[in-house]
Amino acid sequence: MSLAEYRDKRSGRGPEPRGRRSRGRKAGGPHFVVQHHAASTDHYDFRLEIDGVLVSWAVPKGPSANPRDKRMARRTEDHPMDYETFEGVIPEGEYGAGRVIVWDRGTYADDGEHETAEALERGHLSFTLDGEKLRGGYALTRIRQGKDETWLLVKKSDAEARRRPVGDRPESVLSGQTLDDLSESS
Ligand code: MN
Repeated sequence: MSLAEYRDKRSGRGPEPRGRRSRGRKAGGPHFVVQHHAASTDHYDFRLEIDGVLVSWAVPKGPSANPRDKRMARRTEDHPMDYETFEGVIPEGEYGAGRVIVWDRGTYADDGEHETAEALERGHLSFTLDGEKLRGGYALTRIRQGKDETWLLVKKSDAEARRRPVGDRPESVLSGQTLDDLSESS
């Protein structure tokens, strides 16, 4: 799931960032980003900063604020930190061809009992998100290892839990544009 896999999948000629590990800490806690990606299938990419890379999961239905929803999250290759501000059109023929917007971003606090990298290895992450759309406690739990490594993303029951879907705010938190706006400009 390394950055080498990120680089291998891409020609390097597309608009996406080069795959380099980021050094140095930023203030305010590790970052998270959720990108809405209209590729061959529509999905959300959920990414947590862990040890200088964005550890990534593709979530077909997107995150939910409802603790009753168990959202399937397929682990994908780590992405470089500068991917957190990437939005635009990945051209036809490139890996992941399609449109991308930054659907949410912010920082998170790990509230698990292990270091985040160790918790990832063990297959259970517990964290609190401080984003513009996603807030409060979430857990990611691995349910299948191997080639199709699969996890479940679930909202914890807390003051930020909601019954209504979070998909009712489709716009980018960076630019305000929607996926539909991107298709018109491409
Ligand atoms: Mn994707």
